[in-house]
Amino acid sequence: MPAPNRYRIQKVTLTQGTNFLYDFDLKPADLEAYLDEYVVGQAEAKGIIATKVCTHFHKAKAMLLREGRGDNVGFIKNNIILIGPTGVGKTYMIKLIAKKLGVPFVKGDATKFSETGYVGGDVEDLVRDLYWEADGDLEKARFGIIYLDEIDKIASSGDIIGPDVSRTGVQRALLKPLEETEVEIKVQPENVFPFDSEEKKKKRKITINTKYVLFVVSGAFHGLEEIIKKRLKKSSLGFLSEVEGRSDVKVNYLKFTTPEDLVAYGFEREFVGRLPVIAVCDPLTEEDLFEILANPNSAIVLNKKRDFKVYGIDLAFTDSALRLCAKLAYKEGTGARALLRVLEKALIPFEKTLPSLNVEHLGVTEELICDPQGYLATFLNNPRDSKWEEVYLQALKEEKERFLRYLELRKHRYLRTDVMELTPQRLNLLFELYKFEDVELSVVLEEMLNLYRQIKGYEATFSRRNQIQAVFTDEAIDYIINEVLRNDRGVFSFCEKALSRIEYALLNIRDIQGRKKFYITPLAFTNPEKYIEDLISFRA
Ligand code: ADP
Repeated sequence: MPAPNRYRIQKVTLTQGTNFLYDFDLKPADLEAYLDEYVVGQAEAKGIIATKVCTHFHKAKAMLLREGRGDNVGFIKNNIILIGPTGVGKTYMIKLIAKKLGVPFVKGDATKFSETGYVGGDVEDLVRDLYWEADGDLEKARFGIIYLDEIDKIASSGDIIGPDVSRTGVQRALLKPLEETEVEIKVQPENVFPFDSEEKKKKRKITINTKYVLFVVSGAFHGLEEIIKKRLKKSSLGFLSEVEGRSDVKVNYLKFTTPEDLVAYGFEREFVGRLPVIAVCDPLTEEDLFEILANPNSAIVLNKKRDFKVYGIDLAFTDSALRLCAKLAYKEGTGARALLRVLEKALIPFEKTLPSLNVEHLGVTEELICDPQGYLATFLNNPRDSKWEEVYLQALKEEKERFLRYLELRKHRYLRTDVMELTPQRLNLLFELYKFEDVELSVVLEEMLNLYRQIKGYEATFSRRNQIQAVFTDEAIDYIINEVLRNDRGVFSFCEKALSRIEYALLNIRDIQGRKKFYITPLAFTNPEKYIEDLISFRA
């Protein structure tokens, strides 16, 4: 692949400033589609979470707009309880949502809390962290998301006779923050100088109210399945025995969780009452793990690639390498977390050795994953062997095919509001951009869409100004995108400069020939004289 000169991928800003909530108009289906870009499987949980989070923020917005006016209904929060094994995307989903909405996110561990003394912190500290995460923007912190992991560990255990005081105590301590409480934060005053009075230097106290803070609590809930099965056995006339008798059906009983089951598990009724939304994640299959690796938005693979990119080395993975990683990770039983370990284990020897060898790329194959040390030894025998280049090119080809397949399946989602055609040239450029920066597909696509919209905007301006109908052909649009990206130019200034060379001639043709519609082709940019000549002779 030819090395691109210089690409500039603008960071796509997802936060919308302090007043983001006033402009909030995301629909549940949009948020779900966004999650689909990143999160493999978990369809049911994604649907529930996207819906309830959207509703939460719409309700918060409505309340804000009503603030100051009498309201007796109050605000009931859609706090979420998220059940599922480790490493299946529970935290990932919520983090992605926080990023999309531009609200601060903090994660805490429920096992750290105690009902009185605060061992290693308490929930109020997490609320304070929201403030710091929001860069001291109180308005944003009020709408943050607090994620509490290992919540199942504060269920009172059935082994203890009588109530398990310390755990139920922690649950009680959480009741208020889950609903609404004021948390004080001490902040340094701004603009103080050493010579200012002690009074002026004193820390200020501000308060955050948790009324609109969304809480998501999660855990694996070992043992809950038995409780559910027991209940189903009692109540659902034969359903259980029918399902259990079938070897082809694998039921995730956790999906039938009710608030009563959570009470039986060891939670106080009031605590469960503060968590009205239950979402359940499935364990990931081997195929899911492969899908995670093959997804061009995959944080796991992109991060690994970036580790090598810092040494100027490009990584490309073959399908079979990813399949083997998925297989090895599946055996570990820690969900997608194991993928990271498998990749690290195989690639660390290369990460150590290749930077000293002036190597520019590495094709990661099944053989490499299977026996990294052996593969490295062979590689080191002759690092300049053309065979390695071939292996890399093959891996790159497979990577491109995965990329295009993924995009083909989802382009209707990505391009919902735009009419941009994904021409073969645009697809090539997208892939080049993607490889160049090792950024997510969604980022490069957004960048290209932005340029496309700007070009369309310029087309309209140019037409209006000259009282003609200028139509940029697809080829011309691709040409502009390419030039603008490679040379770090702005669309408007690039087009303005290039088309100034034909603008006067176009006006003449308009006036002399009475012609109104002009197709602008790449020739108008690369060879304006020839373009005008062709226009005139075509007419003649
Ligand atoms: P947990 O379920 O324990 O909260 P995480 O959400 O923290 O697990 O998952 C760890 C990492 O694994 C994530 O950051 C993400 O990169 C990857 N991952 C986990 N599940 C999925 C999934 N379903 N789809 C895509 N990536 C996933």
